Amino acid sequence: MPRPPQEIPMMPDANAAPEAVPAPKPKPRLSEKNQGDLPTGGPSPRQTLSYLRGLMENHGLEPKAKLGQNFLIDLNLIDVVIRAADLSYEDCVLEVGTGTGSLTARLAQEAGAVFTVEIDRDFHRLAQTIIGGKANVVSHLGDALARKNELSTTMLNGWAALAKKYETRQLKLIANLPYAVATPIISNLLLLPDLPIERMVVMVQWEIGERLRAEPGTKDYNALSVLVQSLADVEIVRKVAPTNFFPRPKVDSAIVMIKPNPKKRALVGDVVKFRAFLRDLYTHRRKNLRAALAGWPQEEGRHEKADVDRILKEIGIDGNVRAETLDLEQHLRLSRAFA
Ligand code: SAM
Repeated sequence: MPRPPQEIPMMPDANAAPEAVPAPKPKPRLSEKNQGDLPTGGPSPRQTLSYLRGLMENHGLEPKAKLGQNFLIDLNLIDVVIRAADLSYEDCVLEVGTGTGSLTARLAQEAGAVFTVEIDRDFHRLAQTIIGGKANVVSHLGDALARKNELSTTMLNGWAALAKKYETRQLKLIANLPYAVATPIISNLLLLPDLPIERMVVMVQWEIGERLRAEPGTKDYNALSVLVQSLADVEIVRKVAPTNFFPRPKVDSAIVMIKPNPKKRALVGDVVKFRAFLRDLYTHRRKNLRAALAGWPQEEGRHEKADVDRILKEIGIDGNVRAETLDLEQHLRLSRAFA
């Protein structure tokens, strides 16, 4: 009788791995030291439309459009976010926008610890009913931004302290971001010098998602595209229709994965200077490079037209094209010569 195909061959296979090879290591979970701190709160509630309506009615709350309070009601999409986040107990997560705390609770089940920040006092209080009992969650009431374009240091310090307490190895931003502050949060986190952020998995407005991954010469390509792509690898995980939120936003959304890339960052060098250069360059988006660089807004960065032409020639970039047609490497060359 022929042998069943799954039977182990009698003769050793020269190419087979030696028997002594250990089984693959399981994904790291909570470090030994913190075993006692396992989450104590209940499981994440199933955030459906009827659940949310009931919850808000019980607490006498209405979603506030100006704070981007559009809550995810598609359980599959929450799973998509969690899968893309690829969490283990070695991760300390930052969530901007606790909302009702449903995503927070899921994150707390999968990660070592979660620092979640919510600006709205009512929702901060409401979320405690869901995440209040979880030992590995710090729930902070406050603005994620200190100013329009600056991250809150209370938030950053709190996140870093939590990571230290739980001895997590890496940081992740996982959030259904309030649309109005998505761009400054993503770009400022990317610029931070010392935090080991492994990835960001964020829900953003579709238009921002398109900008984040836009290619040179397309209508969406701008300073944000160049900055983010020069420091990280960007991928759109999923397009998300308004029907997946309560209340429904007017536009589509995207789940985006941004993975900071240390090799790319090393090529950029001074990231703060690079960002400032891009901002100035793209205030003259419609001008060609010669005109844009000669009409520099800052006194000290201003160049005579002849200088601009000479430098452009030296670095091999055509002054008659617009910045938005240049690829990432050309932007870096330009910044090194002019910033
Ligand atoms: N995480 C919840 C979810 O997935 O259903 C809520 C996400 S909702 C899109 C965004 C949340 O961010 C809201 O609860 C809103 O109040 C909060 N928020 C808005 N601006 C904020 C800011 N500057 N800092 C912190 N939280 C903010």
